Amino acid sequence: MTRKIKVGNIFIGGDAPITVQSMCNTDTADVDATVGQIIALENAGCDIVRVAVNGKETAKALSEIKKRTHIPVVADIQYDYKLAVAAVENGADKVRINPGNIGDRGKVKYLADFLKERGVPVRIGVNAGSIEKDLKQKPVAEALTISAERHIAMLENAGFYEIVVSLKSSDVRTSVAAARAFSAKFDYPLHIGVTEAGTYQRGLIKNVAGIAPLLLDGIGDTIRISLTADPVEEVRAGRMLLKSLGLNDDSEVVSCPTCARTAIPVSKIAEEAEKLLAGTKGLKVAVMGCVVNGIGESENADFGVAGGIGKSAVFENGKITKTVENNEISNEIKSLIEKYKGKNEKV
Ligand code: SF4
Repeated sequence: MTRKIKVGNIFIGGDAPITVQSMCNTDTADVDATVGQIIALENAGCDIVRVAVNGKETAKALSEIKKRTHIPVVADIQYDYKLAVAAVENGADKVRINPGNIGDRGKVKYLADFLKERGVPVRIGVNAGSIEKDLKQKPVAEALTISAERHIAMLENAGFYEIVVSLKSSDVRTSVAAARAFSAKFDYPLHIGVTEAGTYQRGLIKNVAGIAPLLLDGIGDTIRISLTADPVEEVRAGRMLLKSLGLNDDSEVVSCPTCARTAIPVSKIAEEAEKLLAGTKGLKVAVMGCVVNGIGESENADFGVAGGIGKSAVFENGKITKTVENNEISNEIKSLIEKYKGKNEKV
């Protein structure tokens, strides 16, 4: 099991639930825009958000951003340890910085002592694109592991151990191999994902291909589905991935793939149900295109609908409870969600 690291009011690693992260693509100094995006991410179920901090004004903006948002905020710093200090003084809950980029050992020690006193952890993030020159000849996964090891040693030499690590490449196999090699050697929690994965659909597939095998092996403590898309989509996808692996208890909609027997607009109804279920726990709602196979195929759902010509069957816990006109299906699902909401939530 990995070490448990505290980030603001939540934990990464150990027995803590796997968290979903994203990163703002607003100008961090634009407080209203950044707060707006963080709130949208929170509503989608984001656990931790990262923002780029590239100057003193930006670091200062964190103080107002923190006041108006609720989830831990990670300050992404490239080189300047003073900016890391300023970010934490303004409320950052974690800092992403590679100690090897800071410069001399004295500065690393200063930052490590400061963060230790504040109880703020560090994410070391090594990426295939920025690997040290002397490691370039090695296989990339091995180079990433050695690079992470060097950055870790710098913090450990300064007596600092509150560390989360990511080793990423835009290549799926490399990202997986690096995470496996690292976790065989270290017990620091791992942030996993495939970086620069691409636009929405390709990025989704690459990230799932890279993250799922690790999670199934028990590797990975926090995830980011990195997409060239709205960060809210990263969070939705991250939560759905955890749900499909049985790693969270979010509600879900099961829907049939549709065929010539389909009697209702399954896709539209299922998407509406997805929206209504956002943020709820433990419910399974089925939207099936016909009664022929629909009910049997969705026996495990709490409730659902199976389409018919003109009228559709509504079922609860595997039994038909009534039929409704097809134009009433959405309203019926809405009221059933209200009825069942909270039923499976752990209070
Ligand atoms: S549930 Fe009915 S409509 Fe949907 S795919 Fe199966 S047979 Fe076709």
